[in-house]
Amino acid sequence: MNPIRIGILGYGNLGRGVELAVAANDDMELVGVFTRRDPASVHPYGENVAVWAADELAAHTDDIDVLVLAGGSATDLPEQTPAAAALYNVVDSFDTHANIPEHFAAVDAAAREAGHVAVISVGWDPGMFSVSRVYANAIMPNGADYTFWGRGVSQGHSDAIRRIPGVVDARQYTVPVPAALEAVRSGANPELTTRQKHTRECFVVAADGADTAAIEEAIVTMPNYFADYDTTVTFVSQEELDRDHAGIPHGGSVIRTGTTGENGENTHVIEYSLKLDSNPEFTGSVLAACARACARMAAAGETGCRTIFDIAPALLSPLAPEELRATML
Ligand code: NDP
Repeated sequence: MNPIRIGILGYGNLGRGVELAVAANDDMELVGVFTRRDPASVHPYGENVAVWAADELAAHTDDIDVLVLAGGSATDLPEQTPAAAALYNVVDSFDTHANIPEHFAAVDAAAREAGHVAVISVGWDPGMFSVSRVYANAIMPNGADYTFWGRGVSQGHSDAIRRIPGVVDARQYTVPVPAALEAVRSGANPELTTRQKHTRECFVVAADGADTAAIEEAIVTMPNYFADYDTTVTFVSQEELDRDHAGIPHGGSVIRTGTTGENGENTHVIEYSLKLDSNPEFTGSVLAACARACARMAAAGETGCRTIFDIAPALLSPLAPEELRATML
């Protein structure tokens, strides 16, 4: 079997994660990376990986089976994924949950028109967490859902702190409240407020002479981002931030507790949990598995947009169906 030929559009944290994931799978190979920056300034891990300008996207349709989009959800993917789906089978990790239906419609139209398969919004949330929610709800109609995130770095919250005047750099960790997690896992079905579920820890580098009390006040009172949480702010030097907070860990738990029995007397707890040293490397690994499924759906003549809900588990696996039945069932 010829390897699945992969391209990557956008080479940031996630783009690098996708490259490492492709290298870890024998049935796929990375052909090239597209970037909007000067291609000479982008250096993939693989020495034989080509780097092309993003405006040459249309020039390599014969070389690539699946294009993995690794741009940002805020402004890149809403434009890039529909445009790319007109040229390639594509996979993206679009994670603005509220806008997924709109993104799906735009990508679906482009992919159908061009006769391609597009897989959107895969990663861990949305992605593996979403699968867990669907299985748990289908199995346990009487119950309640909980999602806890962390301990992990939230890029969006870190960016929000960096925009405050006097802030040079910042890292924000989202941390689940242990007592809340315990109460949920016990099957007690607690009703929890935003503040009761997560705390936020901020490590901030302030400019020389900046008013740190004012910065702290601006953070803890920031609507939507911090005001609804118990937030701690610790000022550190740039050296400390670089030394102690350079990683991009994340993870969390999706939990559904439910009851069965004539009078609901039996309680069940379903939990899917992730502890990730590297958010982009894990997300890239999910994208690579979904690229395999995308190539298979395209080879079977399918067209249009899919989410993780539409991908049968066997399509994600490098193992043949008989091997799967013998080893994993
Ligand atoms: P980055 O900011 O590292 O990269 C985004 C894009 O920025 C790159 O594709 C790159 O495009 C561009 N870029 C511009 N300048 C630079 C530079 N100096 N260095 C690196 N890249 C640069 O974001 P991430 O890769 O961390 O995340 C991408 C998206 O992945 C997030 O927006 C999020 O939506 C999604 N995600 C989804 C998850 C899920 O579970 N579904 C989980 C984690 C992330 P170019 O090469 O064209 O310049």
